[in-house]
Amino acid sequence: MERSCERALELGLPAIAFTEHADWALVHEGQHAVDIAGYFDAVERCRAQFKGLRILTGVELGEPHWYPRETAEILAAGPLDQVHGSIHCIRLDGTLLDASQFRERAGIDFPRAVREYFRETLAMVESGQAFETLAHLDYPKRYWLDGLAPYREKDYEAEIRAILVAAAGTGRVLEVNTTRGRTLCPDITVVRWWREVGGQAVQYGSDAHQPDKLAEGFELATQMVEAAGFKPARDPMALWRR
Ligand SMILES: [Zn+2]
Repeated sequence: MERSCERALELGLPAIAFTEHADWALVHEGQHAVDIAGYFDAVERCRAQFKGLRILTGVELGEPHWYPRETAEILAAGPLDQVHGSIHCIRLDGTLLDASQFRERAGIDFPRAVREYFRETLAMVESGQAFETLAHLDYPKRYWLDGLAPYREKDYEAEIRAILVAAAGTGRVLEVNTTRGRTLCPDITVVRWWREVGGQAVQYGSDAHQPDKLAEGFELATQMVEAAGFKPARDPMALWRR
């Protein structure tokens, strides 16, 4: 976290948000949910050390509708500036799978798994769990199966639009996640649909995971979002609105 703060200052960013993973569907070796008390301590240490940087707190809730008790505990633990809701995992034929694992599963019906991912995302948005920002809406495309026809939003338009309508109707913010500078997640087709269905605001996340990836891809992401009809905010920390 200290190195990420140093990198933010190097880049001239006015602020940084650490949206730590709060995942309880544990599918990776060594994975654990956020130690929220330790997290707040770490933020306080960074704030004391980097006075010229605004350091925002946050969590990325993974499948919060599956874990309402754990989610409520995290949200009650202290003030959080950013609360993201995200889906990483689905249950496919009784097996818990992160979308990054789809392609490792022999004989998987990949499009069916992706449709299930979107169905789960809709369930999360409609669940009433308290998150403001919908994170990396089309996350499975990061882990597309080689040899499959390329990912096209159009092939999942009905599923994606249903999520966007539900998110707009509940006042959510759409995150454009730059995947550490690799992939815009989602890209312009979905951001245009977001505007069409009445979505009010967009925010950016680099999902950096490492200090040197901080804010990677933001230039391209902001150009894309502007082309989709959202207006740059004067305050660099503000949401971009329609
Ligand atoms: Zn995520």
